[in-house]
Amino acid sequence: QAPAAMPGGHCGVSSPPLHHSVYSLTDSSDIGPDEEPLDARPRPSPLEKLTGDMCKDQSTIKELMIGRRVGFYKVRGEIGCGTFSRVKLAFHALTKDKVALKILDKTRMDAQVQRLLSREISSMELLRHPNVLHLYEVVETPSRLHLVLEYAGGGDLHSKICNEGKLSDNASKVTFAQILSAIKYMHNTNVIHRDLKAENVLFTSTGCVKVADFGFSTRVCNRNDFLDTFCGSPPYAAPELFRDECYLGPPVDVWAMGVLLFFMVTGSLPFRADTMGKLRRRIVEGAYLVPPWVPGPCQRLIRGILKPEPAERYVLDQMLGCDWLLPVEFPWSLVPSEPAAPLHSLLESDWGELEEEAEVQSLMEDLGFTPQHLQNNQLKDCRNPVTGVYRILLHRAQKSRGCDSLPVVRGMVRDPKREGLRAYRGLRHTSFLCQMM
Ligand code: AMP
Repeated sequence: QAPAAMPGGHCGVSSPPLHHSVYSLTDSSDIGPDEEPLDARPRPSPLEKLTGDMCKDQSTIKELMIGRRVGFYKVRGEIGCGTFSRVKLAFHALTKDKVALKILDKTRMDAQVQRLLSREISSMELLRHPNVLHLYEVVETPSRLHLVLEYAGGGDLHSKICNEGKLSDNASKVTFAQILSAIKYMHNTNVIHRDLKAENVLFTSTGCVKVADFGFSTRVCNRNDFLDTFCGSPPYAAPELFRDECYLGPPVDVWAMGVLLFFMVTGSLPFRADTMGKLRRRIVEGAYLVPPWVPGPCQRLIRGILKPEPAERYVLDQMLGCDWLLPVEFPWSLVPSEPAAPLHSLLESDWGELEEEAEVQSLMEDLGFTPQHLQNNQLKDCRNPVTGVYRILLHRAQKSRGCDSLPVVRGMVRDPKREGLRAYRGLRHTSFLCQMM
């Protein structure tokens, strides 16, 4: 009875033929249980052991039933809570990598939440950038949907500023440059985020920015297409969202970046009010004050972004070329082509994965995946556990080559504790610093 009752019944590979249950990814031609005596059989691979346990081991089956395991993941404690979801820490049972499991209760999902969720999944499937949170896999059970996400262990920007105060000028540069890099890449891909706010800017434990929460995102055919749905959080909402019937996507994300930048360098939001009416008025009028102690180049950038008229507002390329970000450099040696200008190389979508792919394939074979598994899966279906393993291992290989390294601010005197840039302790990264300074 157990295998049929287990969650994730959809996730077996379609071919080669399945053995034991939906969770068995074993090519049935590999094993002949009736032909060989037990002790003559080779030791089961980690994959065979796991899929076998999921079908036959009572404690594993119980864990699956009570949600302590989901698909190939072992679930641990809660790490966050959103409007429609709970987020838990989990480990992949085969690769042992940490992931974040965003859990949605299907019984409470109305049509609107389902739409948000499918947008979140389709946008994340499309985007592949070091500063955009990775989606590894989607696991569905009869009652729940689980998004298996890259784990961002460094918390979010909102909590960081609320707990520790504003960021230093250098930490703001490093953080903002990564957000800018992610948004530029998204807009190049015609994806508009529409809910940029400090709560959706996560950090890895090494301080790398991960833009998250794509529930309000949308893909436009053309960046000049008008949109008409009010999305996002009021303090970050652009004036045209309150004023006009329709709006262009990119300037709305740009405005939210201006609010984010102001929040980072001052520790408070530019538009605050005790009623929605007053907040709306302040935003529409563009009524905010930049404290005089904010460095001049940063003030100029904020003023260029927070312009009430979208047509007058800075575009991303103006932000990339602004004086304040001039000293910011990304570790160019991590990206395939020669950078055209500072920041630009990180925006390319081709990450030169061939070398990593060979490494991943070999790791997957060690775990017990056959070349046929990989061929049959094509590694494109996010609802397949083979894709989950592949994406986790690929990201691990990319990280080992430094894809999550932070940009460097030229001439910066480093103080890891004050700057919150712990990645600079890493040997790999230090060597970049030496190359670049
Ligand atoms: P969300 O439902 O996406 O708004 O997430 C709710 C909370 O869970 C966030 O505010 C974060 O604190 C936490 N969280 C979400 N995703 C992750 C992640 N990938 N890694 C670590 N924490 C996360």
